[in-house]
Amino acid sequence: MNIKRYQVMEGAVDAVDMKSALDFIADYTSRKENPPGFVLAMNPEKVFALRANPFLRSFFAKAVLLIPDGIGIVKALRFLYGVKTSRVPGADLMQNICKEAPQRGYKIFIYGASEAVNAGACEKLKERYPGICIAGRSNGFVPADKMNELVEAINASEADILFIALGSPKQEEWMATHAKDLTHVKICQGIGGTLDTIVGTVKRAPVFWQKLGLEWFYRLLKQPSRIRRQWKLAVFLKELLMLKYGNQKKAGN
Ligand code: UDP
Repeated sequence: MNIKRYQVMEGAVDAVDMKSALDFIADYTSRKENPPGFVLAMNPEKVFALRANPFLRSFFAKAVLLIPDGIGIVKALRFLYGVKTSRVPGADLMQNICKEAPQRGYKIFIYGASEAVNAGACEKLKERYPGICIAGRSNGFVPADKMNELVEAINASEADILFIALGSPKQEEWMATHAKDLTHVKICQGIGGTLDTIVGTVKRAPVFWQKLGLEWFYRLLKQPSRIRRQWKLAVFLKELLMLKYGNQKKAGN
């Protein structure tokens, strides 16, 4: 499948919407010769994380799919390249993969979060998506000397899709170290705190706010301590303006 990738400051993002992201994953998974492919979420906060962390920067460049997770990135694509797409929040993509799993025949392994959250999220997903095959699961606090056993369990489960919920950059470090030992997995999606939102320990914004592109504002009202994170969105938008109009000025000279 031909998906175009665009540079946005230190990051890049693929011009996909939810449907084309799901179709890409189905196509990639169906090709038995494919190595594990990384599906990672791009948002303004990630752009700054990539700026500060050279490992993350080079790892993100290897992803098979970089989804436009945040509204700032959707706006950046439109603003810099005139490309219209819609948000593909990582949490929604994960649940849509689960929804499609019975029909597409995916087997799923879910790794990450506390034992209670991981087990609770698996139960919730089975209730929501009857017929889903969760072939295995593990909490995210596996000690280093037991990591080989976890990799063997993932391989033995014959899962095609591995969701990794360790937060960033831990989940990317795990993929960078262990993906080469995965014999069956085709897609590894980093899902951060998604399992916590599935069991409800952390709430997402109501759909109304999400549709208005104001999920960030809702989360700020609920958790004022997020102001530092939100501030980054404002800095990102400022840099975006400078990138566009600064370049135009240079071109006009
Ligand atoms: N976590 C984990 N193992 C660790 C550290 C964190 O499984 O060693 C889990 C943690 O329980 C939480 C998730 O990783 O479920 C981190 O979520 P967060 O929202 O911080 O991630 P982000 O989306 O911001 O990267």
